[in-house]
Amino acid sequence: MNLTPATEISLPACRTKILCTMGPSCRDTATIETMMQNGMTAARLNFSHGSFEEHRRTIAALREGAGKLSRPPTILADLPGPKIRIGQLVEDPLILEKGNEITLTTREIPGTADIIYVNYNRLPSSLQPGDTIYLNDGFIELTVLEVNPESVRCVVTAGGTLRSGKGLNLPGRKVFLDNPTKRDFEIMDFALAENIDIFGISFVEDADALLRAREYAAGKNRSIHVIAKIERAAAIGNIDAILSAADGVMIARGDLGIEIPIEDMPSVQKELIHKANERSVPVITATQMLVSMVENSRPTRAEVTDIANAIQDGTDVIMLSEETAIGRHPVRVVSTMAAVAASFERRHGELMWLSALREQLKAYLTEKRISVPDMISLNVAESAQSLNVPVILASTVTGMTPRRISRLKPESWIIAVCQDEDVVNFTFLSSGVYPLARDGSMSTWHEPVMRQLKKQGILTPGDKVILTEGMFSNPRDGREPGGTDMMAIITV
Ligand code: PGA
Ligand code: MN
Repeated sequence: MNLTPATEISLPACRTKILCTMGPSCRDTATIETMMQNGMTAARLNFSHGSFEEHRRTIAALREGAGKLSRPPTILADLPGPKIRIGQLVEDPLILEKGNEITLTTREIPGTADIIYVNYNRLPSSLQPGDTIYLNDGFIELTVLEVNPESVRCVVTAGGTLRSGKGLNLPGRKVFLDNPTKRDFEIMDFALAENIDIFGISFVEDADALLRAREYAAGKNRSIHVIAKIERAAAIGNIDAILSAADGVMIARGDLGIEIPIEDMPSVQKELIHKANERSVPVITATQMLVSMVENSRPTRAEVTDIANAIQDGTDVIMLSEETAIGRHPVRVVSTMAAVAASFERRHGELMWLSALREQLKAYLTEKRISVPDMISLNVAESAQSLNVPVILASTVTGMTPRRISRLKPESWIIAVCQDEDVVNFTFLSSGVYPLARDGSMSTWHEPVMRQLKKQGILTPGDKVILTEGMFSNPRDGREPGGTDMMAIITV
């Protein structure tokens, strides 16, 4: 789909982007369309569930819905990665009672309350008596009593309901499984054939898994965007290398909240968002944001505050998982999330004004360590705030110019006019960015966009608009990636 400046510009309900996980509750065309109208801006295909055929139908429905709204069809293919799982259970669900003994085995047998198969051969050698094992997102806790060559005898120290295929976590333990896995590469083949180029890479510990995924695609002459899912303790120690190798990051709080002490998670979230913002890497805050709405029609007070806090921290994207995939209110949960985000965004400029990142960039400026593009982004964001501009227009080749502005979270929409269509979809993940594909024949890029914005009443006479691009540093009229060096303020 070509989104040229002449296309209707349909700005979403809030500048924070809403990523919805697809699943049986929401993957029909009508529901997808309603979700998009209510604030969904991107879709996540969770390849831990569903058949390729189901995903193929979902992709078609997503593209149809986005086309009707003339929105970029941003789709993230989330690869399961090396997740340790239990096998099939005879009785499903199975209740594990506190105090009972249970054996985990590496022999593939049907599971009961006495013995359960785990798909990881090195489970016994990873453990010793007294260690803790978590099942089902940490809701069930086992303590190891005895380790044998092919099995581990445990006692249930926190009971609960278990289902076939649920995940198993060994916090702090190294997991000796390839990442991406063989299965992940099969999924990549499918997704690339479906023209998806944004991939979630699970359980990264350093930059290696990201590089391997990128190399695999490059071997097929494809260039992809990789989102590093931060959900292992080791990833936090290697965060600088990961941020350098990744196009985006996800704070995957589901697994992260088991792999590190859960009480440490809020500070880790804030630190990761800040580091991602420093580098203009879009960041997704994921899992349980509105989990009570899987069943209920209204959220908890803690959940709505969590959404606002993530926005205040500087997140670009807020994610819904089972809330939309298998929940009872897929549309309502999106409109609730969008309403909370929009309400907070109305005041968040004044609350953000003293944000650390802006102060830090200014400090760099004083020490003359700031780069020209960083300085332009700071000036664009500050001028946008002071002059109360409704839109910033940014011409971009790689998407970096709008991302640099977006991280400072001005209260304006950033209309990014991109050279290539594949940049359009990924750029739509950054907070406040609305991307369009540049029409090759256009001699000036801003005039048709301004005309369209005026026609739709998004701009009215007297409004000020900020325009930014790389004009002088670039060899060929801004068509090469390079430094943003120009900013203009235009009165409509
Ligand atoms: P998952 O990732 O849903 O694929 O496990 C997100 C998370 O762990 O939070
Ligand atoms: Mn996870």
